Amino acid sequence: MTGTRFKRVTLRRPDLRTPFPRRFAARLTGETVVALTRRAKYLVGDLSSGETLVMHLGMSGSFRVEQSRSRTPGRHDHVIFEMSNGAVITFNDPRRFGFMDLLTPRQLAAHPALSALGPEPLSDGFTAGSLAAALAGKKTSLKAALLDQRVVAGLGNIYVVEALHRAGLSPMRQASTIATASGRPRPAAERLSAAIKEVLQEAVARKRERGYRGRRFRVYEREGERCLTRGCGGAVARRTQTGRSTFYCPACQR
Ligand SMILES: [Zn+2]
Repeated sequence: MTGTRFKRVTLRRPDLRTPFPRRFAARLTGETVVALTRRAKYLVGDLSSGETLVMHLGMSGSFRVEQSRSRTPGRHDHVIFEMSNGAVITFNDPRRFGFMDLLTPRQLAAHPALSALGPEPLSDGFTAGSLAAALAGKKTSLKAALLDQRVVAGLGNIYVVEALHRAGLSPMRQASTIATASGRPRPAAERLSAAIKEVLQEAVARKRERGYRGRRFRVYEREGERCLTRGCGGAVARRTQTGRSTFYCPACQR
């Protein structure tokens, strides 16, 4: 899409998770995609009009890129972008939790989810030091703090519980305890920032190989099963924390 123009935009229904914005197809048509990036779980396209196209895959969304508009659209093909370079990009989403929005610069700056995002976890900007500084003085649980998108961008429930298990840290532990009083990283912050990067890198590699179905987690949805930490012997427990399921090993996560 980068460097090409929207030649034709077809919406095959009025909404995804939310209605498409007003005059969505008309506002895209003729505009060039200046840059296409990702922030947290959002795909972000900067357009020549100055507006920003924000797209989210939700639970089951995917894009298909083809060189021509060959077949008739399928039942779950909801949006079709025909680009000036001939590429046909189709958004398919059976469960329709995905969404698309088109924001003016002012709306982008004020966007609750996009304007205050923390660092990308796989970037050099995310370190034990930056994590400790963000959590210093926080009285909430470590689990809740890591789900806060202002602390670190794009971490969801599954990878937070997986990273905490790998780092040997209890989800119920107070967030501030990984930092010193002056906000410097303790060893726990080193282990946690490394564990976050590892679980995400492994997830990307695994998805590339086998797709989402091939996932294998260490604690997520393994309640009652044996802890996989070497020499632990504990069992995975489950409890609800801020409305979400937390899976953890009470024996080796402190
Ligand atoms: Zn354990």
